[in-house]
Amino acid sequence: MTARIREFLKNRTDEGPCLVLDLDVVRDNYTAFARTLPDTKVYYAVKANPAPEILKLLTTMGSCFDVASIGEIDMVFAAGCTADRISYGNPIKKESEIATAYKAGITLYAVDCEAEVEKVARAAPGSRVICRIHCDGTGAEWPLSRKFGCEPDYAVDILEHAHRLGLVAHGISFHVGSQQHNVEAWDRALASAASVFKVCAERGINLAMVNLGGGFPAKYIRKTPKLESYGKAIFRALRKHFGNAIPNTIIEPGRGLVGNAGMIEAEVVLIAKRNREDDLRWVYLDIGKFHGLAETIDESIRYPIKTTKDKDETGPCVVAGPTCDSVDVLYQKTPYPLPVSLAIGDKVLIEAAGAYTTTYSSVGFNGYPPLRQYVI
Ligand SMILES: *Cc1c(COP(=O)(O)O)cnc(C)c1O
Repeated sequence: MTARIREFLKNRTDEGPCLVLDLDVVRDNYTAFARTLPDTKVYYAVKANPAPEILKLLTTMGSCFDVASIGEIDMVFAAGCTADRISYGNPIKKESEIATAYKAGITLYAVDCEAEVEKVARAAPGSRVICRIHCDGTGAEWPLSRKFGCEPDYAVDILEHAHRLGLVAHGISFHVGSQQHNVEAWDRALASAASVFKVCAERGINLAMVNLGGGFPAKYIRKTPKLESYGKAIFRALRKHFGNAIPNTIIEPGRGLVGNAGMIEAEVVLIAKRNREDDLRWVYLDIGKFHGLAETIDESIRYPIKTTKDKDETGPCVVAGPTCDSVDVLYQKTPYPLPVSLAIGDKVLIEAAGAYTTTYSSVGFNGYPPLRQYVI
């Protein structure tokens, strides 16, 4: 926890769970990305946390943005960013949305099939398109693999189709899966990307860019490799597969830029045992899957939960949210060790919660308000 967050929470007088996010950490993270991959442009994945303060800070630092919808485009414009620094990276867009983005000046679009190419050709003529290829997501705690991306050899046809329709076949993108622990995950994807570059060149189409996606981790409980290790592995893979003709590259970090910048303060609502003999306690918090902790689905992301009693003996707990929905259980398959002295009314801190929390929070399920955020 940063000193600024500690100070903020000490002076906080309002009730209910909240996320406190320290902009200094975001600033440091952006600088670390820029330093680690100096030839690679950063496109912040807005969905991770679109707080206006974050978007403004990153705009002034020179960041570009990866957006998925008109709503996100509006937020990035409101932060003072210009259209030339925006990539419309969602391969699933309505034609009317593409037209709106094009009218706003955006000329960089992701596609992963021929029908999407045709939409872009009609609604954003002459624009640059990047074809997303499939990645298997192995090594990632939150894989994004199943839904997006074509097979690499098909990407050649899709890009050629774009070229014929008057678009600029600009490059290849992929996402190796979010919270990716394996620094070598980029190697296979870059091998595929290089082969697409080669076959496209044989057909007279010169691709210029590889979008290396996101996947850079935040530190939760499990140890993660250092950012430098990712940078080195990516550079090695670029050299290996592209030789001296390394293309322009961009990255789209979401979690890696904001994950460790925020912390949720929550409260223990109830501690229950389900039978007399059981050691296992059910600990119900005032925040759950519907208030921002959606990435606990399948217990994928295991947040560090801190209490003021962490020096005491611990015992196994099922950790759950407060709503009347039985899916609102955070950790059960692998029970969470919490102090036996933990009591109803105690505050708990959920660390590294700056990414994918406020955006996943429901509007008012069971009458609980969406997760409040303070950006400091
Ligand atoms: C969500 C997303 C990202 C960000 O991924 P992280 O793992 O959070 O860095 C980047 N690119 C695209 C296309 C995305 O959908």
